[in-house]
Amino acid sequence: PDMMSEQLRQTTCPYCGVGCGVDISCNVSKRATTLDTVKGTPEHPANFGRLCVKGTNLLETNDLNGRLLHPTMAGQSVDWDTATDLIADKITSTIAQYGADAVAFYVSGQLLTEDYYIANKLMKGYIGSANIDTNSRLCMSSAVAAYKRAFGEDVVPCDYSDLECTDLLVITGSNTAWAHPVLFQRIQRAKLKNPDMKVIVVDPRKTETCTIADLHLPLKPGSDVALFNGLLSYANAQGCIDKSVVESYAEGLEETLKSANALSLDDVAEVCDLDINSIKAFFDAFCKASSAITFYSMGVNQSSAGVDKAQAIINCHLAMDLIAKDGCGPFSITGQPNAMGGREVGGLANMLAAHMDLENPKHISTVKTYWNAPVMPKGQGLKAVDLFNAIEEGKVKFVWIMGTNPVVSMPNRGQVERALSKCDMVVVSDIVESNDTLNYAHIALPATGWSEKDGTVTNSERRISRQRGILPPPGSAKHDWQILCEVAGKMGFGEAFSFTHPSQIFVEYAGLTGYQNDGKRQLDLSPLQALNEAQYNGLSPLQWPFHTVIKAENTASSNSQPSLTSKRPFEDKRFSTPSGKAKLIPVTYKAPLQVTSDAYPFVVNSGRARDQWHTMTRTGKAAKLLAHMPSANVHINPKDAAAMGVENGDLVSLSSAVCKDAPVIYPVKMDTDMRKGEVFIPIHWSAQWGSHSKLGALYDSAVDPISGQPELKHAAVAIAPV
Ligand code: SF4
Repeated sequence: PDMMSEQLRQTTCPYCGVGCGVDISCNVSKRATTLDTVKGTPEHPANFGRLCVKGTNLLETNDLNGRLLHPTMAGQSVDWDTATDLIADKITSTIAQYGADAVAFYVSGQLLTEDYYIANKLMKGYIGSANIDTNSRLCMSSAVAAYKRAFGEDVVPCDYSDLECTDLLVITGSNTAWAHPVLFQRIQRAKLKNPDMKVIVVDPRKTETCTIADLHLPLKPGSDVALFNGLLSYANAQGCIDKSVVESYAEGLEETLKSANALSLDDVAEVCDLDINSIKAFFDAFCKASSAITFYSMGVNQSSAGVDKAQAIINCHLAMDLIAKDGCGPFSITGQPNAMGGREVGGLANMLAAHMDLENPKHISTVKTYWNAPVMPKGQGLKAVDLFNAIEEGKVKFVWIMGTNPVVSMPNRGQVERALSKCDMVVVSDIVESNDTLNYAHIALPATGWSEKDGTVTNSERRISRQRGILPPPGSAKHDWQILCEVAGKMGFGEAFSFTHPSQIFVEYAGLTGYQNDGKRQLDLSPLQALNEAQYNGLSPLQWPFHTVIKAENTASSNSQPSLTSKRPFEDKRFSTPSGKAKLIPVTYKAPLQVTSDAYPFVVNSGRARDQWHTMTRTGKAAKLLAHMPSANVHINPKDAAAMGVENGDLVSLSSAVCKDAPVIYPVKMDTDMRKGEVFIPIHWSAQWGSHSKLGALYDSAVDPISGQPELKHAAVAIAPV
């Protein structure tokens, strides 16, 4: 008889960057494994047993309906050999004819670290281009650039436990209650325990997050730099900056203060469209706090001044000595489950693996030697928006999109569609058989999904957790790293890509983080490079940087775990810059690039709904999740709706300079929480949902000049009743 047993498997939620541990109870027999229930892992330090509604409904979204199960070409199933032969041949011939930079990968924060590492190794070390960018470019690349400029390394200097010992939490550009619900619950508990803790929300919209706020500043979209520069100037005037202390660990204070002083308090109020009393209440709370955290997310990052906004926040923390100690710091909260793991392995076109830089010849040579790579990129690759431009211009002839749906998520949808329809070869690896991007695929490859994928992810607080494969891959689906290794093998690089288990990839990556590390880089996972497969499989959540390391017994069969104690990054106030000092950087307020005009008088803001994830290819399956917000609406201030003569449920068309002739259409939801002249649309719904929901079509290609992150919080549109 096929005996059934109940087993518990521990893995990680595949949605947001909180990175909650989940316990799956499974029914296992010789013939099949089925997933029975899902609960939060009680001992996981990211969530201590809690899950939000998306995590709780994980199993409802995990069926095989709509799964891509076999490679296809022009809609016909083909075998793997045919598909990977064609891909390898096309990459090789494209390099020979047009050079390595005519090849590109566009990957995703949904990939596991091991997938990301292999994609980067193949592109940067063996194809010889840095044309690998990721949807994380749309998510947190501004935060990365600001951390690197300030600290010399992309390091988030706080963790979730800091919430439990802070006087003041400023939440700016984040609807944490909906986008990071388990973290929001943690904030609620911290505030209950410590009634003196203040929470200030800075957001143009009055969101659910404001329910916990002592003060809400509904600032004008895009004006954050003016607000935080105003804070810096005010703190200086109030004598809250101890220059000798700051200068012991940071450079650039005087120039930064000078630049911050350029706007008076009245100017700040005018630029931010806030009343002076609210601004002063915020500034006073910050100046009085002996500890303070500033949370920031997409409202800061998705901007043509995203890096400057993050920098203005970091400047305040550095200048007021609210950094590298308990309950303090500028805390960028990542949107995706593994945006951080991608950052660590160099998943962006302007990064090299293990926090090394493409501009640094020593780093290039370190990685080249470690990988035994035949060729390395000559400089940075194309960032997402530039990449799709280059495809449209015919400079990039081959693109491989993995685990992301750029036709929906990128700005300037029309341009992305034109680019993909012109490209010589578009390969898409995905778990679904149809979405807006797959319409343009010459070859579609079936990848594994959450319950099958096996590897690691890193959450917003630098904590590495195992995502464990519980179910076997369905149909002929394969792991992303496996598909990449097969193609690499067919291109003649089999030796460097001969991995048969994700543990082998992880230990190679861990070794690279320690290889010729001069001790300044905080990302050093080298104590993990000796893990065997059993130890990797049993790995408990770990947070870098490590303080003390007790090596595990390392026999081939041992699954004993290394004992690693985490330390606070930069706890000795020595940073990863050449001088060891952090950098304050003068920044000045600049208005958004997509400016309103008489023709396009409304600002479009966008963001997440509570119960949906990205383009809904998974969460859209669960009736319980759809119930919270069954369809996308455009949220409009009732006064604007009245002026247009529309009411709840009426259809309106929205057009911008880049989609004049193809407006997008949404039903109206009147919303008193919107500022006049501004509307909000949730990001998730796409044309696939049978509507004119093409939000991305409204945005032009405006990006931050440093990070390349698109300005997805600020399009200028005209709105008219349909
Ligand atoms: Fe946790 Fe985020 Fe998953 Fe919700 S979506 S369970 S907060 S990781």
